[in-house]
Amino acid sequence: MFFKTIDFSKYSSIKVGQPTEVLMIEKGDTIPNDRYLIGGANNLLVSPTPPPLMMLSKDFAYIKEEENMLEIGAAMPTGRIVSYAKKHDIAGFEFCSKLPGTLGGMLAMNAGVKEYEIFNILHSIEIEGKWIAKDNINHGYRFAKLSGIATAARFEIKEGFSQELLDALLSLRSNQPLDPSAGSAFKNPEGDYAGRLIEVVGLKGIRKGDMQWSEVHANFLVNLGKGSFEDAKYLIDSAKEKIFKKFNIMLQEEIKIL
Ligand SMILES: Cc1cc2nc3c(=O)[nH]c(=O)nc-3n(C[C@H](O)[C@H](O)[C@H](O)COP(=O)(O)OP(=O)(O)OC[C@H]3O[C@@H](n4cnc5c(N)ncnc54)[C@H](O)[C@@H]3O)c2cc1C
Repeated sequence: MFFKTIDFSKYSSIKVGQPTEVLMIEKGDTIPNDRYLIGGANNLLVSPTPPPLMMLSKDFAYIKEEENMLEIGAAMPTGRIVSYAKKHDIAGFEFCSKLPGTLGGMLAMNAGVKEYEIFNILHSIEIEGKWIAKDNINHGYRFAKLSGIATAARFEIKEGFSQELLDALLSLRSNQPLDPSAGSAFKNPEGDYAGRLIEVVGLKGIRKGDMQWSEVHANFLVNLGKGSFEDAKYLIDSAKEKIFKKFNIMLQEEIKIL
């Protein structure tokens, strides 16, 4: 293992944070249990005082085929997974095309689009050297209870990459803002949409410093330039407070605040 300085104002998708020392884990290392693991930082909001961080090195960015199984390392970026599936005519990974991040992040978040979620196509996850079948992992809408750090996952190979599905999913997602964000800020509460609630309480388009509840999609917190952690946190907290007051619904963050 070795340390690397990562500047979260550049590395994170929401472009908030500062240069921070991150411990890089290499193949064969014992994974420390007193550090927070990050993937591609597409779902993170990093504070000025984050916990000690670690990250899987490129040793964990691989794809290999064994009999009817595809094994993918947890540090593999989703874009490269889709390219591989397309090249080898494998079905099921089309929806990963516009989910920025790594496989590890997708597994931990049970990331997905519409009815497509990573757990639907998953066979098993390698967690700290042990393979655990999907059915033994508690998971649901945008969460999975992993018992540790995922280093790889296996998927049954099904033939037939669908360019049609890929195109349909890509066009479906065009209602998202292009400004830097960390994806949806809140999970949708049961039977409703966080974006709708943010809009109803009048926060859509509202700005604090350079952070804003997007005018394109209210559940996206966007960074219009030099947005700070404090501004982001202020907007998140005020949305929670206003929505709780009006609807008695306590929204839960989808983004991870470190
Ligand atoms: C523009 C935009 C659009 C998005 N749209 C969607 C969407 O439609 N649907 C959706 O689900 N998400 C969406 N996201 C969020 C994001 O793409 C997913 O959550 C993605 O899976 C995050 O991956 P990451 O590698 O960046 O994880 P990070 O953001 O780095 O980490 C997320 C969480 O995963 C954990 N984690 C990461 N790697 C591992 C590992 N190996 N083992 C255990 N835990 C791990 C981290 O500890 C953290 O809790 C969007 C993000 C952006 C910026």
